[in-house]
Amino acid sequence: MWYNNILDTIGNTPLVKLNKVAKDIPATVLAKIETTNPGNSIKDRMALKMIEDAEKSGKLKPGGTIIEGTSGNTGMGLAIAAVIKGYKCIFTSTDKQSKEKFDALRAFGAEVIVCPTNVEPEDPRSYYSVSSRLEREVPNSWKPNQYDNLSNSQAHYESTGPEIWEQTEGKITHLIAGVGTGGTISGIARYLKEKNPAIQILGIDTYGSVFKKYKETGVFDKNEIYPYITEGIGEDFLPQNVDFSLIDHFEKVTDKDAALMTREIARKEGIFSGNSTGSAVAGLLQMKDKFKEGDVVVIIFPDHGTRYLGKMYNDDWLRDRGFLKDEKLTARDIISK
Ligand code: PMP
Repeated sequence: MWYNNILDTIGNTPLVKLNKVAKDIPATVLAKIETTNPGNSIKDRMALKMIEDAEKSGKLKPGGTIIEGTSGNTGMGLAIAAVIKGYKCIFTSTDKQSKEKFDALRAFGAEVIVCPTNVEPEDPRSYYSVSSRLEREVPNSWKPNQYDNLSNSQAHYESTGPEIWEQTEGKITHLIAGVGTGGTISGIARYLKEKNPAIQILGIDTYGSVFKKYKETGVFDKNEIYPYITEGIGEDFLPQNVDFSLIDHFEKVTDKDAALMTREIARKEGIFSGNSTGSAVAGLLQMKDKFKEGDVVVIIFPDHGTRYLGKMYNDDWLRDRGFLKDEKLTARDIISK
Protein backbone atom coordinates (compact mmCIF):
# COMPACT_ATOMS: atom_id res chain seq x y z
CA MET A 1 0.00 0.00 0.00
CA TRP A 2 1.45 3.36 -0.97
CA TYR A 3 0.53 6.94 -1.81
CA ASN A 4 1.26 8.29 -5.28
CA ASN A 5 2.95 11.42 -3.91
CA ILE A 6 3.23 13.32 -0.65
CA LEU A 7 0.15 15.46 -1.36
CA ASP A 8 -2.02 12.34 -1.12
CA THR A 9 -1.06 12.08 2.56
CA ILE A 10 -2.76 15.40 3.41
CA GLY A 11 -5.75 15.02 5.73
CA ASN A 12 -7.21 12.04 7.61
CA THR A 13 -5.49 13.30 10.74
CA PRO A 14 -5.97 11.56 14.09
CA LEU A 15 -8.47 12.50 16.80
CA VAL A 16 -6.94 11.96 20.25
CA LYS A 17 -8.60 12.18 23.68
CA LEU A 18 -7.11 14.70 26.10
CA ASN A 19 -6.77 12.98 29.46
CA LYS A 20 -4.96 15.44 31.71
CA VAL A 21 -5.15 19.09 30.62
CA ALA A 22 -8.95 18.89 30.23
CA LYS A 23 -9.67 16.81 33.35
CA ASP A 24 -11.81 19.58 34.92
CA ILE A 25 -14.12 19.66 31.91
CA PRO A 26 -17.07 17.25 32.37
CA ALA A 27 -17.21 16.48 28.60
CA THR A 28 -15.12 14.18 26.40
CA VAL A 29 -12.46 16.46 24.89
CA LEU A 30 -10.82 15.34 21.64
CA ALA A 31 -7.85 16.94 19.85
CA LYS A 32 -7.77 16.94 16.02
CA ILE A 33 -4.01 16.75 15.53
CA GLU A 34 -2.99 18.34 12.23
CA THR A 35 0.78 17.83 12.57
CA THR A 36 0.67 14.57 10.60
CA ASN A 37 0.17 16.59 7.40
CA PRO A 38 3.39 16.78 5.31
CA GLY A 39 4.03 20.44 6.21
CA ASN A 40 3.19 19.65 9.85
CA SER A 41 0.15 21.92 9.86
CA ILE A 42 -3.52 22.20 8.98
CA LYS A 43 -2.60 24.76 6.29
CA ASP A 44 -1.55 22.01 3.84
CA ARG A 45 -5.25 21.34 3.26
CA MET A 46 -6.16 24.86 2.14
CA ALA A 47 -2.89 25.49 0.28
CA LEU A 48 -3.56 22.51 -1.98
CA LYS A 49 -7.22 23.46 -2.44
CA MET A 50 -6.36 27.09 -3.36
CA ILE A 51 -3.86 25.80 -5.95
CA GLU A 52 -6.25 23.22 -7.42
CA ASP A 53 -9.08 25.77 -7.71
CA ALA A 54 -6.74 28.31 -9.35
CA GLU A 55 -5.63 25.64 -11.84
CA LYS A 56 -9.27 24.88 -12.68
CA SER A 57 -10.20 28.55 -13.13
CA GLY A 58 -7.07 29.20 -15.22
CA LYS A 59 -5.57 31.74 -12.78
CA LEU A 60 -2.58 29.47 -12.21
CA LYS A 61 -1.00 28.17 -15.39
CA PRO A 62 1.67 25.47 -15.97
CA GLY A 63 5.11 26.62 -14.85
CA GLY A 64 3.60 29.62 -13.05
CA THR A 65 4.90 31.41 -9.97
CA ILE A 66 2.97 31.52 -6.70
CA ILE A 67 3.48 34.77 -4.75
CA GLU A 68 2.16 35.23 -1.20
CA GLY A 69 2.97 37.28 1.88
CA THR A 70 3.59 34.49 4.39
CA SER A 71 6.41 32.96 6.36
CA GLY A 72 4.41 30.42 8.15
CA ASN A 73 2.30 27.35 7.71
CA THR A 74 0.53 28.48 4.55
CA GLY A 75 3.89 29.07 2.87
CA MET A 76 4.95 25.56 3.79
CA GLY A 77 1.77 24.05 2.33
CA LEU A 78 2.10 26.09 -0.88
CA ALA A 79 5.83 25.29 -1.20
CA ILE A 80 5.28 21.52 -0.88
CA ALA A 81 2.39 21.48 -3.37
CA ALA A 82 4.46 23.64 -5.75
CA VAL A 83 7.30 21.07 -5.72
CA ILE A 84 4.95 18.26 -6.79
CA LYS A 85 3.06 20.36 -9.34
CA GLY A 86 6.02 22.18 -10.86
CA TYR A 87 5.42 25.78 -9.79
CA LYS A 88 7.86 28.33 -8.42
CA CYS A 89 7.18 30.10 -5.11
CA ILE A 90 8.16 33.57 -3.94
CA PHE A 91 7.18 34.49 -0.36
CA THR A 92 7.51 37.88 1.26
CA SER A 93 7.82 38.13 5.01
CA THR A 94 9.01 40.43 7.78
CA ASP A 95 12.30 40.56 9.64
CA LYS A 96 10.53 39.84 12.97
CA GLN A 97 10.07 36.18 11.90
CA SER A 98 12.71 33.62 12.84
CA LYS A 99 15.38 32.60 10.32
CA GLU A 100 14.41 28.95 10.79
CA LYS A 101 11.01 29.67 9.25
CA PHE A 102 12.62 31.14 6.11
CA ASP A 103 15.08 28.24 5.90
CA ALA A 104 12.22 25.73 6.11
CA LEU A 105 10.55 27.36 3.08
CA ARG A 106 13.86 27.57 1.21
CA ALA A 107 14.33 23.83 1.87
CA PHE A 108 11.54 23.28 -0.68
CA GLY A 109 13.12 25.63 -3.22
CA ALA A 110 10.98 28.66 -2.40
CA GLU A 111 12.45 32.14 -2.65
CA VAL A 112 11.89 34.22 0.51
CA ILE A 113 12.13 38.02 0.49
CA VAL A 114 12.56 39.51 3.94
CA CYS A 115 10.99 42.98 4.33
CA PRO A 116 11.21 45.45 7.24
CA THR A 117 8.58 45.04 10.00
CA ASN A 118 8.41 48.62 11.17
CA VAL A 119 6.85 50.23 8.10
CA GLU A 120 3.20 50.99 7.30
CA PRO A 121 1.40 48.45 5.03
CA GLU A 122 1.21 51.16 2.31
CA ASP A 123 5.00 51.70 2.38
CA PRO A 124 6.58 50.32 -0.83
CA ARG A 125 9.01 48.32 1.35
CA SER A 126 6.27 46.52 3.36
CA TYR A 127 5.75 42.84 2.73
CA TYR A 128 2.21 43.56 1.48
CA SER A 129 3.47 46.11 -1.07
CA VAL A 130 6.39 43.95 -2.20
CA SER A 131 4.18 40.91 -2.82
CA SER A 132 1.62 43.02 -4.75
CA ARG A 133 4.41 44.53 -6.84
CA LEU A 134 5.90 41.12 -7.60
CA GLU A 135 2.48 39.83 -8.60
CA ARG A 136 2.21 42.69 -11.12
CA GLU A 137 5.75 42.36 -12.45
CA VAL A 138 6.57 38.62 -12.40
CA PRO A 139 5.21 37.03 -15.59
CA ASN A 140 2.72 34.14 -15.21
CA SER A 141 2.29 34.72 -11.48
CA TRP A 142 -0.65 34.21 -9.12
CA LYS A 143 -1.31 35.45 -5.58
CA PRO A 144 -3.53 33.08 -3.54
CA ASN A 145 -4.52 35.69 -0.90
CA GLN A 146 -5.45 33.23 1.84
CA TYR A 147 -7.51 35.79 3.75
CA ASP A 148 -10.14 36.46 1.11
CA ASN A 149 -9.79 33.36 -1.08
CA LEU A 150 -12.84 31.24 -0.24
CA SER A 151 -11.12 28.05 -1.45
CA ASN A 152 -9.52 28.26 2.00
CA SER A 153 -12.71 27.63 3.98
CA GLN A 154 -14.00 25.32 1.26
CA ALA A 155 -11.03 22.99 1.91
CA HIS A 156 -12.25 22.53 5.47
CA TYR A 157 -15.87 22.13 4.37
CA GLU A 158 -14.76 19.31 2.09
CA SER A 159 -12.17 17.54 4.27
CA THR A 160 -11.75 18.57 7.93
CA GLY A 161 -15.50 18.90 8.65
CA PRO A 162 -16.48 15.46 7.27
CA GLU A 163 -13.50 13.82 9.03
CA ILE A 164 -14.60 15.22 12.41
CA TRP A 165 -18.22 14.21 11.82
CA GLU A 166 -17.21 10.64 10.94
CA GLN A 167 -14.55 10.27 13.65
CA THR A 168 -17.08 11.29 16.35
CA GLU A 169 -19.86 9.26 14.69
CA GLY A 170 -21.93 12.44 14.60
CA LYS A 171 -21.69 12.88 18.39
CA ILE A 172 -19.74 16.17 18.36
CA THR A 173 -21.52 18.90 20.36
CA HIS A 174 -18.85 21.68 20.33
CA LEU A 175 -16.01 22.71 18.03
CA ILE A 176 -13.17 24.92 19.31
CA ALA A 177 -10.78 26.49 16.77
CA GLY A 178 -8.45 29.47 16.66
CA VAL A 179 -9.43 32.14 14.15
CA GLY A 180 -6.84 33.77 11.86
CA THR A 181 -7.96 33.84 8.24
CA GLY A 182 -11.13 32.16 9.51
CA GLY A 183 -10.92 29.38 6.92
CA THR A 184 -10.62 26.52 9.40
CA ILE A 185 -13.51 27.43 11.67
CA SER A 186 -15.88 28.66 8.98
CA GLY A 187 -15.42 25.67 6.66
CA ILE A 188 -15.77 23.07 9.42
CA ALA A 189 -18.70 24.98 10.97
CA ARG A 190 -20.61 25.10 7.68
CA TYR A 191 -20.32 21.32 7.27
CA LEU A 192 -21.18 20.51 10.90
CA LYS A 193 -24.13 22.91 11.13
CA GLU A 194 -25.59 21.39 7.95
CA LYS A 195 -25.43 18.00 9.70
CA ASN A 196 -26.67 19.28 13.09
CA PRO A 197 -27.44 23.00 13.61
CA ALA A 198 -27.25 22.55 17.41
CA ILE A 199 -23.45 22.06 17.31
CA GLN A 200 -21.82 25.03 19.03
CA ILE A 201 -18.93 26.71 17.23
CA LEU A 202 -16.49 28.46 19.59
CA GLY A 203 -13.77 30.67 18.10
CA ILE A 204 -10.53 31.49 19.89
CA ASP A 205 -9.33 35.09 19.57
CA THR A 206 -6.42 37.01 21.11
CA TYR A 207 -6.20 40.27 23.05
CA GLY A 208 -5.13 42.80 20.40
CA SER A 209 -7.54 41.46 17.74
CA VAL A 210 -10.89 42.72 16.47
CA PHE A 211 -12.96 39.52 16.10
CA LYS A 212 -14.71 39.15 19.46
CA LYS A 213 -15.83 42.77 19.72
CA TYR A 214 -17.05 42.72 16.10
CA LYS A 215 -19.10 39.55 16.71
CA GLU A 216 -20.67 40.96 19.87
CA THR A 217 -21.36 44.55 18.78
CA GLY A 218 -21.10 44.64 14.99
CA VAL A 219 -18.56 47.44 15.45
CA PHE A 220 -15.07 47.33 13.94
CA ASP A 221 -13.27 48.92 16.88
CA LYS A 222 -9.72 50.12 16.14
CA ASN A 223 -9.11 50.46 19.89
CA GLU A 224 -9.08 46.66 20.10
CA ILE A 225 -5.92 46.58 17.97
CA TYR A 226 -2.48 46.43 19.62
CA PRO A 227 0.61 44.21 19.26
CA TYR A 228 0.46 40.71 20.70
CA ILE A 229 2.70 37.66 20.86
CA THR A 230 0.34 34.76 20.06
CA GLU A 231 0.95 33.49 16.52
CA GLY A 232 -1.52 32.36 13.87
CA ILE A 233 -4.74 33.77 15.33
CA GLY A 234 -6.40 37.17 15.70
CA GLU A 235 -6.35 39.95 13.08
CA ASP A 236 -6.55 43.73 12.75
CA PHE A 237 -9.03 43.47 9.85
CA LEU A 238 -11.97 41.26 8.84
CA PRO A 239 -10.90 38.54 6.36
CA GLN A 240 -13.64 37.29 4.02
CA ASN A 241 -13.04 33.73 5.24
CA VAL A 242 -14.42 34.55 8.71
CA ASP A 243 -18.16 33.74 8.54
CA PHE A 244 -19.42 35.44 11.72
CA SER A 245 -22.92 33.98 11.23
CA LEU A 246 -21.57 30.46 11.83
CA ILE A 247 -19.49 31.26 14.94
CA ASP A 248 -21.57 31.24 18.13
CA HIS A 249 -19.02 32.74 20.50
CA PHE A 250 -15.47 34.16 20.55
CA GLU A 251 -13.23 33.66 23.58
CA LYS A 252 -10.10 35.80 24.06
CA VAL A 253 -6.99 34.24 25.59
CA THR A 254 -3.90 36.11 26.86
CA ASP A 255 -0.41 35.62 25.40
CA LYS A 256 0.79 34.30 28.76
CA ASP A 257 -1.99 31.73 29.22
CA ALA A 258 -1.50 30.55 25.62
CA ALA A 259 2.27 30.18 26.02
CA LEU A 260 2.09 28.33 29.34
CA MET A 261 -0.68 25.99 28.15
CA THR A 262 1.30 25.15 24.99
CA ARG A 263 4.09 23.83 27.24
CA GLU A 264 1.65 22.05 29.55
CA ILE A 265 0.14 20.12 26.62
CA ALA A 266 3.59 18.76 25.70
CA ARG A 267 4.40 17.86 29.29
CA LYS A 268 1.04 16.36 30.26
CA GLU A 269 -0.30 14.87 27.03
CA GLY A 270 2.94 14.20 25.10
CA ILE A 271 1.59 16.26 22.20
CA PHE A 272 4.14 18.67 20.72
CA SER A 273 2.11 21.51 19.28
CA GLY A 274 2.20 25.20 18.45
CA ASN A 275 1.24 28.41 20.17
CA SER A 276 -2.38 28.60 18.97
CA THR A 277 -3.02 25.12 20.39
CA GLY A 278 -2.21 26.51 23.82
CA SER A 279 -4.69 29.36 23.18
CA ALA A 280 -7.41 26.91 22.22
CA VAL A 281 -6.97 24.66 25.27
CA ALA A 282 -6.66 27.66 27.63
CA GLY A 283 -9.88 28.95 26.01
CA LEU A 284 -11.56 25.59 26.67
CA LEU A 285 -10.76 25.92 30.39
CA GLN A 286 -12.03 29.53 30.46
CA MET A 287 -15.32 28.34 28.91
CA LYS A 288 -15.73 25.44 31.39
CA ASP A 289 -19.33 26.39 32.24
CA LYS A 290 -20.47 25.81 28.66
CA PHE A 291 -19.93 22.03 28.85
CA LYS A 292 -21.78 19.19 30.57
CA GLU A 293 -21.43 15.45 30.90
CA GLY A 294 -22.03 13.59 27.65
CA ASP A 295 -20.82 16.50 25.49
CA VAL A 296 -18.16 15.77 22.87
CA VAL A 297 -15.81 18.71 22.30
CA VAL A 298 -13.36 18.73 19.38
CA ILE A 299 -10.41 21.15 19.50
CA ILE A 300 -8.26 21.84 16.45
CA PHE A 301 -4.49 21.46 17.09
CA PRO A 302 -3.19 23.36 13.99
CA ASP A 303 0.61 23.02 13.98
CA HIS A 304 3.80 21.52 15.41
CA GLY A 305 5.98 22.53 18.35
CA THR A 306 9.27 22.56 16.44
CA ARG A 307 8.37 25.99 15.04
CA TYR A 308 8.24 27.39 18.58
CA LEU A 309 11.37 25.87 20.13
CA GLY A 310 12.97 29.30 20.50
CA LYS A 311 9.77 30.73 21.97
CA MET A 312 7.36 29.19 24.50
CA TYR A 313 9.47 26.04 24.76
CA ASN A 314 12.46 28.16 25.77
CA ASP A 315 12.70 29.15 29.46
CA ASP A 316 14.73 32.30 28.78
CA TRP A 317 12.15 33.53 26.25
CA LEU A 318 9.38 33.02 28.82
CA ARG A 319 11.40 34.61 31.63
CA ASP A 320 12.14 37.70 29.47
CA ARG A 321 8.40 38.23 29.10
CA GLY A 322 7.61 37.53 32.75
CA PHE A 323 5.61 34.43 31.79
CA LEU A 324 7.47 31.79 33.78
CA LYS A 325 5.61 30.85 36.94
CA ASP A 326 6.74 28.58 39.81
CA GLU A 327 10.40 28.94 38.93
CA LYS A 328 12.22 25.87 40.15
CA LEU A 329 15.96 25.42 40.62
CA THR A 330 17.16 23.50 37.58
CA ALA A 331 20.31 21.38 37.30
CA ARG A 332 21.82 24.18 35.21
CA ASP A 333 21.10 26.74 37.96
CA ILE A 334 22.80 24.50 40.55
CA ILE A 335 25.91 24.02 38.41
CA SER A 336 26.25 27.73 37.61
CA LYS A 337 26.00 28.73 41.30
N1 PMP B 1 -3.06 28.39 14.27
C1 PMP B 1 -1.97 28.52 13.50
C2 PMP B 1 -0.66 28.08 14.02
C3 PMP B 1 -2.07 29.09 12.21
O1 PMP B 1 -0.98 29.21 11.44
C4 PMP B 1 -3.34 29.53 11.77
C5 PMP B 1 -3.44 30.18 10.43
N2 PMP B 1 -3.31 31.60 10.48
C6 PMP B 1 -4.45 29.39 12.61
C7 PMP B 1 -4.27 28.79 13.86
C8 PMP B 1 -5.81 29.89 12.24
O2 PMP B 1 -6.38 29.19 11.17
P1 PMP B 1 -7.24 29.96 10.11
O3 PMP B 1 -6.32 30.87 9.34
O4 PMP B 1 -7.81 28.88 9.25
O5 PMP B 1 -8.30 30.74 10.83
